[in-house]
Amino acid sequence: DWVSDPAVISIMQAAMAGGGRVRFVGGCVRNSLMRLPVADIDAATDVQAEEVMRRIEAAGIRAVPTGLDHGTVTAVKDHVKVEITTLRVDVETDGRRARIAYTDDWAEDAKRRDLTMNALFLDPDGTLYDPVGGLADIETGRVRFVGEAERRIQEDVLRLLRFFRFHAHYGRMAPDEEGLAACKRFAPLLPNLAGERIRDELLKLLAARDPAPTFYLMRQAGVLSHALPEATHLRRLAALTLLTGEMEEAAPDPLRRLASILPDAKAGKEVATRLRLSNAERDRLTAMLKPAADIDPAAGPQDRRRLLYAIGDETYRDLVLLDWARRLADQPGAVPAWVEAGYRVQLAAADGWVRPKLPVNGEDAMALGIPTGPAVGKLLKQVEGWWMEADFRPDRAACLARLKELAG
Ligand code: ATP
Ligand code: MG
Repeated sequence: DWVSDPAVISIMQAAMAGGGRVRFVGGCVRNSLMRLPVADIDAATDVQAEEVMRRIEAAGIRAVPTGLDHGTVTAVKDHVKVEITTLRVDVETDGRRARIAYTDDWAEDAKRRDLTMNALFLDPDGTLYDPVGGLADIETGRVRFVGEAERRIQEDVLRLLRFFRFHAHYGRMAPDEEGLAACKRFAPLLPNLAGERIRDELLKLLAARDPAPTFYLMRQAGVLSHALPEATHLRRLAALTLLTGEMEEAAPDPLRRLASILPDAKAGKEVATRLRLSNAERDRLTAMLKPAADIDPAAGPQDRRRLLYAIGDETYRDLVLLDWARRLADQPGAVPAWVEAGYRVQLAAADGWVRPKLPVNGEDAMALGIPTGPAVGKLLKQVEGWWMEADFRPDRAACLARLKELAG
């Protein structure tokens, strides 16, 4: 348990040596109360950041000034990180960034946080502080803004997406109505946000156990057309989640889920550009959105090996899953037996698959007296085609013979 981790305890003690309190806050408190795993540890303190830094270092613990200008120091010990931020209030906001001031009032700090479930403090002595009534919302699984929803969204439009992200992960009942109405009203401001901030929230939303109901809610509220207008195939997302449910319980694949709701590769490229996906993410997204014609459920084992050779096992798995999600989307309800059987057979072809290597190369061609140049590549392509047709069975001697035959 992270609260009783000796490294965490010594960090907290070091930061409090000399007065003041340091209390856990945000996701770690929320998830502990929900008995869910904790990703990262955030803490808040009434001690000034420079002083926190001095105290941590005086205890022989590494202190990294990860954001001194907004009061944040990160303490690192034995691979445990605690991000400690001085209590603050947002003085002035323009919808994107805030001018801040420090305070020693815990309730004030809670009021500048986004959602009630994210605004609880846990003292290392075990006392829970709940200035804005977050505990009740954690117990019922209701997402609610701290304070007046419309004002909070206008201060920082990203909160609108966080509202849905946290609902997707932790909601067990409809989100707060006033909050939802405010999201509806201010959704047109979403395109003002930096693409990468939208991307981070959307990908985190897509990593929820079952994100489709939240996407339906966003569509119904008129938010989706501003957050991700290209999202047209929500049923495929529901189908993909159902199909991969047992496989992804540990680690859902948000990018594949993103691909499932997009209509085509053109939409994928637009999304990749606008949301500033990395080159690797863009390439994978576009590969997943190629027309799925090459995934033929009736294909035999040899066809499957040829396809694996052409596109690689990762893209193959993506395409198989997305293809069956498409088919399943037309068949609401539980996964029918024919889908189950079909995709299992196709996926199994990729298990333990090792890409075969053509046993001849350019040097072999030159050894046969073929002059260097485009002809070599062309010949090798021909040998490769023949070798593939023969299900990758011809060995080096057979391929050399074929090469000689084609060259002659
Ligand atoms: P997780 O790390 O599990 O995704 P988290 O609640 O810790 O969830 P973070 O993004 O790490 O989320 O933020 C830490 C805390 O900072 C939040 O719990 C919340 O109190 C506050 N916070 C983060 N972003 C905002 C925001 N845009 N507006 C107001 N408060 C915010
Ligand atoms: Mg966090």
